[in-house]
Amino acid sequence: SQQFIWPMAQFGQIINMYQRARASSERIFGLMDEPSRIEENPDADPLDVEAGEVVYDDVTFGYGDGETIVEDISFEVPGGDTLALVGPTGAGKSTVLKLLLRMYDVDEGTIEIDGQDLRDVTIPSIRRAIGYVSQDTFLFYGTVEENILYGSFDADREAVVEAAKAAEAHEFIQNLPEGYDTMVGERGVKLSGGQRQRVAIARAILKDPDILILDEATSDVDTETEMLIQRSLDDLTENRTTFTIAHRLSTIKDADQIVVLEDGHIVERGTHEDLLAEDGLYANLWGVQAGEIDELPEEFVRRATER
Ligand code: ADP
Repeated sequence: SQQFIWPMAQFGQIINMYQRARASSERIFGLMDEPSRIEENPDADPLDVEAGEVVYDDVTFGYGDGETIVEDISFEVPGGDTLALVGPTGAGKSTVLKLLLRMYDVDEGTIEIDGQDLRDVTIPSIRRAIGYVSQDTFLFYGTVEENILYGSFDADREAVVEAAKAAEAHEFIQNLPEGYDTMVGERGVKLSGGQRQRVAIARAILKDPDILILDEATSDVDTETEMLIQRSLDDLTENRTTFTIAHRLSTIKDADQIVVLEDGHIVERGTHEDLLAEDGLYANLWGVQAGEIDELPEEFVRRATER
């Protein structure tokens, strides 16, 4: 099954990269051990993205071992809007977004992008439309430039540098032993989580996808770096349909919609202000992170552990 379609003109020069990139594409969500089980519909057309509206309608899914992981998930994200997914580890946030990338097909319900059911469009066209940024973004063994280019092979060095600058990555890249030609990834120079994330942002800027998935950083970067990263992310997400998996709630206060997942179900939804007023799980998570309360009240801890 073909994962990507590259521009044919540059095929020779990139075949090796293609293999490396392809090997890594399956690791995007830590899916290395999971061969894709979906099949392309022979009548599939390429996805045609206009506004970038994403609609989940009563989506239910399990990984095939009989256990339902997410159930009755519905939301509508108008083109250009941001939806943040919040909830405890294991609640199903990544699973919901793996379905958008069509790593798996839904068991029940539908997911549509601009009115097209994901099962009716070609898989590479879905992957092309969606950019993914994470601190855990896999860097394949290759140069920094190749890692930024990943998927955008018609771009030149100038465009790579421009993207790196916009991602606040140019400075640290210049300080690497060979600059943009430094080998990174396995066996290469090790980059910090914050640096990997900025390479991922540069990659996404270059790719200029219609839809963006941000898996927010969990590990610590210094405050200055965090501000730089946030600024480049703000630019990237503006006017682009964006899904954020949020770990630090402060970064998603301004999301158009916040969906709170618990045990595979949507338990709360609304804006930051709506959810604070509801005084439920979100408000309590917020209180803990803001230092206003010391720990999650017993009722939520019990709900999270009793299953
Ligand atoms: P979150 O992103 O909110 O931490 P996940 O979507 O990663 O949650 O996980 C939701 C549930 O699905 C967890 O119980 C997890 O163990 C399970 N899960 C995740 N990936 C797989 C998989 N590939 N196969 C089977 N179960 C999985």
